[in-house]
Amino acid sequence: MYFDTTHSGEYHCALMSNQAFPARINPRKWAEKGSSWTGELPLSQFTRLTGALQDSEGQVKASVEFGVDEERIRYMKCDLSASVKMTCQRCLTPVELTVETSCSLGIVWHEEAAENLPSHYDPMIVSEETAEILPVLEDELIISLPIVPVHEDCTVQTEFSDPDEPILDDRPASNPFDVLAQLKLKK
Ligand SMILES: [Zn+2]
Repeated sequence: MYFDTTHSGEYHCALMSNQAFPARINPRKWAEKGSSWTGELPLSQFTRLTGALQDSEGQVKASVEFGVDEERIRYMKCDLSASVKMTCQRCLTPVELTVETSCSLGIVWHEEAAENLPSHYDPMIVSEETAEILPVLEDELIISLPIVPVHEDCTVQTEFSDPDEPILDDRPASNPFDVLAQLKLKK
């Protein structure tokens, strides 16, 4: 454990970065305590995301912060970045991309409260005491994937491509649109 003093000068416990992010948390409690978490999450645990990627190797750097703002709105803010491999839509070889995103979510009980949130928050509807946060972070990553991933310059040989071997991939062709479609259905 270490302590941070970012909220109102009081000491708050913050989870240490080498601790795994818990599967379920009580986000309102975390907000009231001003809890935060910084660390790395294996890409392999985000299977909806990796469905759109070449592989699931690597880590997502994540920083998640909970708090209560001056309007008494409980929020979760996140900063995420990951290096991912997708298929270049121009030359069909792997392209490594950096995905970076941040979120600012107001924690609400239901849809109606979501509509009353100030516009700088996106809603995070948590209708129970506890919630899984990782799928929320995964959604944020999925929507920040490029829709048409391409190399800046396809003629530059990347370390991943081997010109002597044809690109074989026996997985069904994955397409970020499919993932987005699934995401829409879920909401
Ligand atoms: Zn390319």
